[in-house]
Amino acid sequence: METGFIGLGAMGKYMAINLSKAGYLKTVFNRTTKKTEIFKKEYKCLVSNSPSELATRCRLIIISVSRDQDVLDIVKQLITKISSNSIIVDTSTTSSKTAKKATDLLKKVNSYFLDAPVSGGVEGAKNGTLAMMVGGEKQVLKEARPVLNVIAKNIVHIGPTGSGQATKAVNQIMAAGMNQAVTEALAFGEAMNLPMEKVIKIVSTGAAGNWFLDHRGETMLSGKFEPGFKLSLHQKDLSICQSMVGSISENALPIIEMTLIHYKKLIDDGYGDEDISALFRLKQANLKN
Ligand code: NAP
Repeated sequence: METGFIGLGAMGKYMAINLSKAGYLKTVFNRTTKKTEIFKKEYKCLVSNSPSELATRCRLIIISVSRDQDVLDIVKQLITKISSNSIIVDTSTTSSKTAKKATDLLKKVNSYFLDAPVSGGVEGAKNGTLAMMVGGEKQVLKEARPVLNVIAKNIVHIGPTGSGQATKAVNQIMAAGMNQAVTEALAFGEAMNLPMEKVIKIVSTGAAGNWFLDHRGETMLSGKFEPGFKLSLHQKDLSICQSMVGSISENALPIIEMTLIHYKKLIDDGYGDEDISALFRLKQANLKN
């Protein structure tokens, strides 16, 4: 199925490359045209000048952009030119509410929306091994699945529209907990003057081993915080989680609350575009005081 891709960011670029290698990619759109120009030189595809132009060229469209409003703005442009029975697969992390709004907009032009957020980081996008959690019509996913198999190793249909994003919220709370645990533990180990390379090597093989330690442990210890997953984007995700549960008592979700406080400090200090492992900066500084 000929596919269009919107958003060549840290994640989108690699998903589009994998689609191109598999022969599915027909056209790309990115807001900043410099990225599409570079992409086009290496990977054969058409460059679309707008989402609406892209919609005239293919029936399956995959999106990877930053925030809720970005997704809705794009869907509003797509529906001006889209053909009936088109399928939009949104891999961005947004709220379930946004997924429902996008689905309603597409219904008006007889087309379909799947909320299909992904997990596995830039490494997963590069290797085509992402985990994809999908909300929307099962039959629509069945049609898109052969193409999606190129970017995700595990694809699970969770339930109706919005349930993919709700599942991603679960994932993001866990990711926050892991970030808190790994950055704090490694800053503690460093403060104890331990040989940290050896510490990572042994701890990662025991019960405390995890993805975040394996992929970000060494880089954070060497002071490298290139994204990865931008801290400001995880802040967005945790704010979505908070809004989903509505008004509950203070300290009911301490991992979310504490991480948002920490991220705000880091963003105020100018680290919002760094990887979420930049939380290590704060833990290190706290242990030095
Ligand atoms: P990123 O590197 O910041 O890229 C964001 C992309 O969205 C860029 O292509 C950007 O275009 C585009 N964009 C932003 N606002 C737009 C708008 N209003 N209209 C059109 N395009 C717009 O972000 P990322 O890390 O790839 O993340 C993309 C999505 O995946 C986010 O929702 C994020 O939460 C989620 N996610 C990220 C990771 C990760 O590890 N990075 C993992 C899983 C899920 P420009 O080039 O013009 O800025």
